[in-house]
Amino acid sequence: MAEEKLQRLEVVTPQAKVYGQDIRFVVIPGTEGELGILPEHAPMVSALKTGLVRVQNEGNTLKIAVSGGFAEVRNSKVTVLANAAEREDGIDVERAKAAKERAEQRLATKDPDIDLDRAEAALKRALNRLRAKGY
Ligand code: ATP
Repeated sequence: MAEEKLQRLEVVTPQAKVYGQDIRFVVIPGTEGELGILPEHAPMVSALKTGLVRVQNEGNTLKIAVSGGFAEVRNSKVTVLANAAEREDGIDVERAKAAKERAEQRLATKDPDIDLDRAEAALKRALNRLRAKGY
């Protein structure tokens, strides 16, 4: 059987390297929509929204929650540079639930000092982390 082609996936944040493996297929959350990337994909750069990177390897799917950033694809290497990124097993569900509550409360107040964009972005990050954990 012909050996299946692999590509390198690196997920990094300003703080840490979150993932680095040779993989078969990855879906990344581009601002213009989900992008499925196979090895030998054409070179590309895309901005990322808050969403899930889904890694497919040998029948497993791993989810990595990312909170915006950029992705670059070149020479069968996908580099995701995210503002924040957590693998499923690194997500603290209680923390995400608390962040969700806080953001929802802020959005519910009529206080003109509330930064609505900031609260909405925080809510999206929290919901995304919960989604990665299957909530
Ligand atoms: P919080 O209000 O709980 O800090 P946040 O969305 O404001 O949430 P970020 O600024 O996106 O947090 O991230 C700060 C750091 O904390 C990053 O390193 C991120 O990976 C980590 N982080 C945030 N929430 C969680 C979580 N629920 N589980 C694990 N790590 C988290």
